[in-house]
Amino acid sequence: MKQPDNETGCLQCGTCCKKGGPALHTEDIELIQDRAFDLENLFTIRRGEPGFDNVKDAILPGCTDIIKIKSKKGTSECVFFLPEKSSCSIYLHRPLECRLLKCWDTQAIEAAYAVNRLTREMLFENDPQILDLAMTHHKKCKFSDMEKFIAQARATQGKQGMDGLNEMFMYDRHIRKLATEKGGLGNILELLFGRPVTLTAKAAGIPVFEKDGKIFLG
Ligand code: SF4
Repeated sequence: MKQPDNETGCLQCGTCCKKGGPALHTEDIELIQDRAFDLENLFTIRRGEPGFDNVKDAILPGCTDIIKIKSKKGTSECVFFLPEKSSCSIYLHRPLECRLLKCWDTQAIEAAYAVNRLTREMLFENDPQILDLAMTHHKKCKFSDMEKFIAQARATQGKQGMDGLNEMFMYDRHIRKLATEKGGLGNILELLFGRPVTLTAKAAGIPVFEKDGKIFLG
């Protein structure tokens, strides 16, 4: 049976690391500057998109960007979790939330959870061209606009709303291709632009599908 860490009381069961990586806060920016982990390990839940709030235990729209450490493909396990050792590969440089999380006493993590979240504006403040690309995409692909187009389409049997929806989906695809091919940014697309809007829609239970290069509602 695992024994608790003498200093932290942690049993290193790995349960928290298997539920997903932490969101980053301003206190974590030095870890990024010191290259404790690379930007390609991060993704953004853009403000306004629904995301799981661990403290409120509900899916809620975020009022700020939430920049998180990615999970391993097809799982919710943090990319830095080492299952064979039930340990963290960046333990000495783990982000704030991981340092605060004590599953037997959640006061500290609850107090810090929604405070001082790192945003793309902070992360790319010295790279205005990249930030501008991300913010232009954000304006053109707002989750609230997607919901509005979908409501219009449903109310009018597809006579309205679908053009706006298609424009958004095509722009999202176009900017990712451009950033990859011309900007060499293919490894940080999910950090710059969040998840592709088709995936965001599906994750929110909106049944979109693509046929012959066009988006349809199921
Ligand atoms: S960064 Fe380390 S401690 Fe934090 S969730 Fe990932 S594996 Fe666990």
